[in-house]
Amino acid sequence: MDNDCLFCKIANGYLPSHKVYEDDICIAFLDVNPTSKGHTLVLPKKHTLNYLTCEKNILNHVLDVAQAVGQNMITNLGASGINIISNVGKDAGQSVMHFHVHVIPRYSSDGLNLSFKPKQITDGELLKICDSLKK
Ligand code: 5GP
Ligand code: ZN
Repeated sequence: MDNDCLFCKIANGYLPSHKVYEDDICIAFLDVNPTSKGHTLVLPKKHTLNYLTCEKNILNHVLDVAQAVGQNMITNLGASGINIISNVGKDAGQSVMHFHVHVIPRYSSDGLNLSFKPKQITDGELLKICDSLKK
């Protein structure tokens, strides 16, 4: 546990949260500033920085739990869609530096806009990027 980490403190019971699920490896609790009704965070109890640094077996478990939480939102909250997001790094909007997955229930006419703004790109640029990523 990292004593300076907010989510370590919540996950290990030193700070309160509205828990919706907990086991030995991970915890899911309501976001204190929800972007929609039921916005939940799923995270490992063991400290790790982000999605990219998380041990594979723990990551798989966190994603399994995020799936179950999402299914539960459809069944028990009446959500009609879900956004699953994990921000990696400040530039991507990560504000708490302990890996977490946002499970955001969506409702018709909820007014949330998480859509990507399309940018123009040439076929040559797409090819170059594709070559870099294939390395
Ligand atoms: P990030 O910006 O790192 O992707 O997401 C961090 C999330 O944690 C934010 O949506 C924020 O509202 C939430 N959050 C920050 N502090 C607390 C807290 O003390 N308790 C809970 N439940 N959520 C928090
Ligand atoms: Zn932590």
